[in-house]
Amino acid sequence: MIVRAQRVVLSDEIRPRSIHIRDGRIVEVAGYDETARDGEIVDVDDESVVMPGLVDTHVHINSPGRTEWEGFRSATSAGAAGGVTTLIDMPLNSIPPTTTLAGLKTKLDQAQHDCFVDVGFWGGVVPGNTAELAPMFAAGVFGFKCFLVPSGVEEFEHVTEADLREAMPELARLDALLIVHAELPGPIKTSDVSVSASEYQTFLESRPRAAENEAIELMIRLSREFDTRVHIVHLSSADAIPMLRRAQREGVRITAETCPHYLHFAAEEIPEGATEFKCCPPIREASNREKLWKGLADGTIGLIVSDHSPCPGEMKLRGSGDFMKAWGGIASLQLRLAVIWTEAARRGFSLLDMTRWLCANPAGQVSLDSRKGTIAPGSDADLVIWNPDAQFTVSAAALRHRHKISPYDGEPLKGVVQKTFLRGQKIYDDGHVVESPLGHMLLRGQF
Ligand SMILES: [Zn+2]
Repeated sequence: MIVRAQRVVLSDEIRPRSIHIRDGRIVEVAGYDETARDGEIVDVDDESVVMPGLVDTHVHINSPGRTEWEGFRSATSAGAAGGVTTLIDMPLNSIPPTTTLAGLKTKLDQAQHDCFVDVGFWGGVVPGNTAELAPMFAAGVFGFKCFLVPSGVEEFEHVTEADLREAMPELARLDALLIVHAELPGPIKTSDVSVSASEYQTFLESRPRAAENEAIELMIRLSREFDTRVHIVHLSSADAIPMLRRAQREGVRITAETCPHYLHFAAEEIPEGATEFKCCPPIREASNREKLWKGLADGTIGLIVSDHSPCPGEMKLRGSGDFMKAWGGIASLQLRLAVIWTEAARRGFSLLDMTRWLCANPAGQVSLDSRKGTIAPGSDADLVIWNPDAQFTVSAAALRHRHKISPYDGEPLKGVVQKTFLRGQKIYDDGHVVESPLGHMLLRGQF
C-alpha cells in the first residue's frame, strides 16, 4: 500500500511524499510520483497532512477493577478517533495496581484482544515494592511511576524521600525511567476551605506552585545523587522551568511533560462549580500558561501528553460543584491533537513542533522511537491523516471514552482527524472506528 500527500510531516521537513508500506511497516519514503504500479494507493487531498500516529504516554485506563471508570475498549477507541496509535497505560486506579509482576500479568490478560491501538504499560513504585521492580521491568513495563502526594486511591500509596532512597538505586541499576507526580504534601492545604469550595480560586490556592516547585527540586537532587533517569509528569507550575533547564544543562537526566489543559485553559476563566476542570496539579493562570509554551519552545518541556483520567460523572460532584471533594482528572485522549494545534498555530508553531511534542518525543521517552512516532523506513506504518484548517466544536456527548464529561464541551477547535492507520491498517475513517480491535500489547525489549 502507498499513502501519498502533498504534505507529509517528516522529522525535519514537510514534503510531498509517497509512503510505501509492506507488512505493516514503512519500507520507503519516496518522491510523490514514485509509486509502484501494483498495490493500493491512498491519495490524500491537498488540504490535509500526513503525520506519524500520535503517541500518548500518560493514559489512565483504570482496568481491571475500575473498568466502570474507563476500560481498554472505550479508551483505545477514543484514541483511534483522535489520531493516537500508541498509548502507555498508567499503573494506578486499576485493581490490582501495576506494582507487582502479578499485577502486570492481570493487566495484560485484561487488555489483550481489547485494544484498538497499540498499548504498553507503566509499572509503579510504592513503599516496599523495590523487589518487584526488576521482575516487572524484565516482563516489559516501560518504566515506573510514583506519587509524592496521596494518589487519590488507597491501593497506590505515595512515597517519601526515604522510600525513594531505597528505590532509586535499583532504578539506576536497571536504567529504568522514574516518572513522578511532583507535588509535595507540605504546601498543600486540605482543611478550612469548605466555605467557598465551589470557587475555582479556593482549589487553586489549596495546591500552590510551591508544592510542585519543592517536589521538582527534590527530584533534581535525587536524580543527581543516584544518577537515576527522572521524568516530571504533568508539569503545571511554570516557576519550575528555570531549575529544570539548569539541571538539564548540568547533565542531570531529568525531562518533563505538560498537558493540553494547562496549555489551553486559564484559571481566571473557570466558572464557579465547574468541577470538570479539576485536575492535580491544577490549571493555573493565563500568565503561567504562556510560560509553559515558552518552556516547550526552548525544549525544557519535551512532550505534551493527555493525562487522560476519567471517572464516572457523579464523582465530579457537579451538583454541589465542590472543587475540594470532586475527583480530579480530565479525559482528553481524543482531543489532544486539535487542542494543541489550536493553541500552537495561534502562537506561530509549526507541524514539525507538533510532531516533536505529540509523536517523536513521547516515543523517545519510552524508547519506542525506532518503531513509533516518525515517518521513516523501518517504522511501523502508524499514520494520522488530518486537516489542520478545518474547524469543529467539541461535543462531549460525541467523544468515545466512557463518561461523556469534558471541560472542552462547546470549545471551538482547529484540526480534524480524518483517518488513522495502525501498522498499515485503517482503524479510523471519518467518524468510524473499525469493528475489531487490532492493537498489539507493547512490551519493553521487543523493540
Ligand atoms: Zn495522571
